[in-house]
Amino acid sequence: MQTLAQYAATSDSTIGRQVYEAPPNYRSEYQRDRDRIVHSTGFRRLEYKTQVFVNHEGDLFRTRLTHSIEVAQIGRALARALDLNEDLTEAIALAHDLGHTPFGHAGQDALNECMSNYGGFEHNLQSLRVVDVLEEKYAEFEGLNLTFETREGILKHCSLPNARKLGQLGERFLKQHQPSLEAQLANLADEIAYNNHDIDDGLRAGLISVQQLLEINLFEEHYRVVKDLYPQLSERRATHEIIRRMINCLVGDLIETSKQNLVSISPSSIEDVRQYSSAIIMFSEQMIAMNLELKQFLRNNLYSHFRVYRMSKKAHHIVEKLFDAFINDTKLLANEYRRKAKIMESSDGDVGRARIVADYVAGMTDRYAISEYNRLFDPLQLT
Ligand code: MG
Repeated sequence: MQTLAQYAATSDSTIGRQVYEAPPNYRSEYQRDRDRIVHSTGFRRLEYKTQVFVNHEGDLFRTRLTHSIEVAQIGRALARALDLNEDLTEAIALAHDLGHTPFGHAGQDALNECMSNYGGFEHNLQSLRVVDVLEEKYAEFEGLNLTFETREGILKHCSLPNARKLGQLGERFLKQHQPSLEAQLANLADEIAYNNHDIDDGLRAGLISVQQLLEINLFEEHYRVVKDLYPQLSERRATHEIIRRMINCLVGDLIETSKQNLVSISPSSIEDVRQYSSAIIMFSEQMIAMNLELKQFLRNNLYSHFRVYRMSKKAHHIVEKLFDAFINDTKLLANEYRRKAKIMESSDGDVGRARIVADYVAGMTDRYAISEYNRLFDPLQLT
């Protein structure tokens, strides 16, 4: 078995679970977290939630599920190379998008606007809410009762007012402390995964071209190498070869830069990592610049492409209409949510009712949101 570094998270040094449970017999604490995440309802919903392309736009685009699996794969490779806890990194990666609304960022922005008078909607916080409260599976506790370290990794960002309500978990945002190295890894594995798979999906959809991508240094560098080595390769295969080399290059840079940081900072424990003033896991300066260039390219050419934008507008419309309908008349909600809304309204008023409506809308898959919209607003649809 691999020996973990002194600054890695371990089952023995875990801050623990909100409700005490005896340690698992045959697994580590983080394997147990991972297994609970894989068995959750929220995890299965990821299959039908948009990453960039809405699920029904094509069978081969990434979904939130395949994206999360790619993040876990990259995260595990990074963790193993740095003697960090692979199980924890995997658990964080698989759970990191559980709180995402249907229709990706368009859905999240719409729900956040709808919730502006009721405490807002943050998808990271919603991921935490899914694992802490919304999953109803176990006899002994609410949610999945995950370890502090997995929950810490899931909560990548948090506004200060919300951080104040979260006790120990929110402290790092108030004190500007860092999460575990495994959480830092999972965060950057997310970035490596989406930047690269969005290029692949964008090309597949015909929204960006190889010619345009040659503006990007990171792409151009690997394009030249692949063209020199394999001049006859079809464009589809060459693209895959370029992207896999880009991922390798980013992963290699992250490992080498982080290794150097770890040697010079030399933290003696996970607590040292948390107290450190800035992130330890990072890319080199040169790679940060190349990565930024890539992100800007995707923002300017893919995410704002008129075809993506049209779908985003529709998504915004659907989420907004669903929220408005339910918040104004909770009798439209299915029995279970109607009952929950009533209970929350009696303790927290409008804010409580809105939170249940947000939970319901956020939990929807793309196609469920579309059919719920049709059931509510199309008179010819069955209810
Ligand atoms: Mg993600």
